[in-house]
Amino acid sequence: MEDYNFQTKAVREGTNATEEQEHSAAIFLTSSYRFKSAEQAADRFANKQKGNVYSRFTNPTVEAFQNKLAALEGAEKCQATASGMSAIFATIMTLLKPGEHMVASRCMFGTTIVLLNNIIEKFDIQITFVDLKDLDAWEKSVQKNTKLFLLETPSNPLGEVVDIEKLAAISKKNNIVLAVDNCVMTPALQKPLALGADLVIHSATKYIDGQGRCLAGAVAGGGLLIDEISSFTRSTGPTLSAFNAWIVLKGLETLKIRMDAHCKGAKKLANWLSDQSFIKKVHYVGLEDHPHHEIAKKQQTDFGGIVSFEVSGGREEAFHLINNTEMISITANLGDTKTTITHPSSTTHVRLSDEEKRRSHITENLIRISVGLEDIGDIIADIRP
Ligand SMILES: *Cc1c(COP(=O)(O)O)cnc(C)c1O
Repeated sequence: MEDYNFQTKAVREGTNATEEQEHSAAIFLTSSYRFKSAEQAADRFANKQKGNVYSRFTNPTVEAFQNKLAALEGAEKCQATASGMSAIFATIMTLLKPGEHMVASRCMFGTTIVLLNNIIEKFDIQITFVDLKDLDAWEKSVQKNTKLFLLETPSNPLGEVVDIEKLAAISKKNNIVLAVDNCVMTPALQKPLALGADLVIHSATKYIDGQGRCLAGAVAGGGLLIDEISSFTRSTGPTLSAFNAWIVLKGLETLKIRMDAHCKGAKKLANWLSDQSFIKKVHYVGLEDHPHHEIAKKQQTDFGGIVSFEVSGGREEAFHLINNTEMISITANLGDTKTTITHPSSTTHVRLSDEEKRRSHITENLIRISVGLEDIGDIIADIRP
């Protein structure tokens, strides 16, 4: 379906009906598959014949999700995983051996930082953290044994951006895999592979499901790299269940329409917050005075649904504003139809040390809102100092 536009692919790509001719994708809730003969079983296990074997590594519902997401990211292949974290873990474990080195952005999802600091470290893999936007720092961190650059852009919660094309030039020159966690943008707003990245990582738990129902993840990119990652997930097991695959498959069909609505609401909220006297600073890359607005405009089609802001004061004032909301959900999740509000320093980023918090600008007066799909007037009316 090469010639179709994004939204048509989102609806039509990647779903093959069975002989029952079901119009919506079927859910294949089966752990294994019968073979027609011992010979067929042998051929499937030897990879001589394509077909289903066992749902840890082949399942038609999961495959439909993988195909649809690959089409939307412009990837050759995609491997689905049980969660965003397992997608990140599988990527790192596939690409790095003990004694090797990776460079990571300092501004990433809190659990990603914990994974790197507390778990990846145990495998004797060295990690250098850099400031996301500082291209020189990325380049200077490269060693002979560097295998991976890992980042999110825009970063969450502050919405800082790195120029993916320029970073890809550095990674390519040094034979390093560039992996972009595209969770907060989704392929509806940003296509890292087209900008030169080698892998796109997703927590499909967020906007791809978009309705707060399940956990899911994925890695998409070139066929050879994804085959290696698939062989890791096949042997270690953090793959996606058919049921959750069905949910996120249906989520992809409406992704762009929902993202457009999230972006529209977030823009209105960011503009409104900018005018309020109880707000010290608004971090939304869609605002023209955001330092990374121009790069964002170049590589994204819109600015996303997450708005962060600093209230005047500290933790007490931030907690007060959060507790003062009536409709908005106090929850650490993002990318839901429901608007959510969170205090990063005491929740998503609580396991960071004070020094790590300081370096990634997670201050006590910082609040993050993931703008949902309610009426934006009602959302704004719920935010009071
Ligand atoms: C939530 C999130 C993850 C982790 O995904 P899970 O599905 O919760 O495991 C990774 N990266 C980003 C940017 C996220 O927001």
